[in-house]
Amino acid sequence: LSPVPSDIEISRAQTPKAVEVLAKEIGLLADEIEIYGKSKAKVRLSVLERLRDQADGKYVLVAGITPTPLGEGKSTVTVGLVQALTAHLNVNSFACLRQPSQGPTFGVKGGAAGGGYAQVIPMEEFNLHLTGDIHAITAANNLLAAAIDTRILHENTQTDKALYNRLVPLVNGVRAFSKIQLARLKKLGIHKTDPSLLTEEEVNRFARLSIDPATITWQRVLDTNDRFLRKITIGLGKAEKGCSRQAQFDIAVASEIMAVLALTNGLPDMKERLGRMVVASDKSGRPVTADDLGVTGALTVLMKDAIKPNLMQTLEGTPVFVHAGPFANIAHGNSSVLADKIALKLVGEEGFVVTEAGFGADIGMEKFFNIKCRASGLVPNVVVLVATVRALKMHGGGPNVTAGVPLKKEYTEENVQLVADGCCNLQKQIQIAQLFGVPVVVALNVFKTDTRAEIDLVCELAKRAGAFDAVPCHHWSVGGRGSVDLARAVREAANKRSRFQFLYDVQLPIAEKIRTIAQAVYGAKDIELSPEAESKIDRYTQQGFGNLPICMAKTHLSLSHEPDKKGVPRGFILPISDVRASIGAGFIYPLVGTMSTMPGLPTRPCFYDIDLDTETEQVQGLF
Ligand code: ADP
Repeated sequence: LSPVPSDIEISRAQTPKAVEVLAKEIGLLADEIEIYGKSKAKVRLSVLERLRDQADGKYVLVAGITPTPLGEGKSTVTVGLVQALTAHLNVNSFACLRQPSQGPTFGVKGGAAGGGYAQVIPMEEFNLHLTGDIHAITAANNLLAAAIDTRILHENTQTDKALYNRLVPLVNGVRAFSKIQLARLKKLGIHKTDPSLLTEEEVNRFARLSIDPATITWQRVLDTNDRFLRKITIGLGKAEKGCSRQAQFDIAVASEIMAVLALTNGLPDMKERLGRMVVASDKSGRPVTADDLGVTGALTVLMKDAIKPNLMQTLEGTPVFVHAGPFANIAHGNSSVLADKIALKLVGEEGFVVTEAGFGADIGMEKFFNIKCRASGLVPNVVVLVATVRALKMHGGGPNVTAGVPLKKEYTEENVQLVADGCCNLQKQIQIAQLFGVPVVVALNVFKTDTRAEIDLVCELAKRAGAFDAVPCHHWSVGGRGSVDLARAVREAANKRSRFQFLYDVQLPIAEKIRTIAQAVYGAKDIELSPEAESKIDRYTQQGFGNLPICMAKTHLSLSHEPDKKGVPRGFILPISDVRASIGAGFIYPLVGTMSTMPGLPTRPCFYDIDLDTETEQVQGLF
């Protein structure tokens, strides 16, 4: 239709097919799905075992140029591409997307199901609750948080012997260690399996974790943009006397458990990762883990359904997995390894799986390659790099935009010079993808104000910079048929042999790995480590965590650390203010400046527009 209706109107105008019909079409067996309502289902991991000998399909990553407030449309390109491949070229394909946090849905950004005629439906179910995975993460995360503070309280108020007797309960009248407790004893150098044989000194050592409260890095989480929880004091009740401390809430998707969910390869691996998560140090500087707190089993129970990818569909009825949505700065910003793995089996050797990375290619794609592909062992075939004329104009020096204020004429009228100037950002992002040896197809997401001359220029400059191809896409206004050229280009690029390689060897020292990313990817002259960052690097190296990949926590709005430096900033020194670790997820994350892990709400949040028609029970106002 012209003009294109709102995202939710388009979503509602299409009736999704029953999810069991979709599941059957893509080759899932009846006992491999668990149905949630009419249009969502969880897919059991047993399918991976059944299809063990099936060759994987082609693996395509959608990334973007450096984001601007104008939005680039990575999700719409992802959805438009699979709609084109399956519904118009007859090639099996699957889209794998992140589950959005409720924070942005009610805050600034709105939904994340794509848009126009390239979206996942029903979009309100995609954007709100889905099948409860984020709630499960919140529950697990906060159980661990409660375990930490309660343990400190109990250690403060009980004798070693009393604590020990409660930790090791009587089973049929005899004390018995659990598996996790046996592992902890081993860690303490106590090689005894019979509790009655422990000496008093060993009992005391076992009973106390001696957590140093000042070193606690595990925060409580909530999936709401609630800035008033950024800094809080906990433990003010009479009964918790002496244990009050400053703490904070993070948004749920910033929880390490979300990153674990996104990177895990299966249940046993998830359990191990959850157990390895480091929450604090003890008073002698040794890491304290979820295993030490005896909570790993319970966390795994809370996460046992969340680990199964969620099946939905596009407007044109093609399959989509929506699974995991880790923060793209302090975590790696990519959907789950398991969804990609299952999808790659289901599409078959000739099929395509299109997965999306958050932020610009310098962040989301770099982490996709160096962190996600390292965890999964999967080899990508093609990168689709999304750009828009409007965003390139901003990189070329176009004026800033303010939400709610109409766009200036630079963005609504032809301005070839601005586009030409801004293409440096696209060219740089193409070169970054090439560092990894994967062919790049540029998808120019066309807006109705773009002119022929502007579109042709972007495609020409992209090819000159080494892109395998560059194609304008019209999926937003007409659906899959508007991205058939992109689908053809991607299919052709996938026939090239992937020369995929990681950017760095994980065995390199931490600082060396950070420097490699800063120089080769961001274009920095060098890095500058704060004394805090240096001492953390020393500590993690000593604790044996030096060989993990790096997950940079940097602004996504610039290739540099300064959000208003558009285009391709040069000659800058990247300041590393601190270094932290997510040991369960399996990465070290250096902070470039400060990072907020709890967003706030704007003056006019999206929730103003969201309502329920109580007659029809239809959700209104989501976009
Ligand atoms: P990203 O994944 O890069 O954050 P999305 O795909 O979610 O971006 O798109 C952001 C918003 O921009 C959506 O509301 C979408 O409908 C809109 N949008 C995307 N492409 C176009 C286009 N070509 N024309 C108009 N609006 C678009």
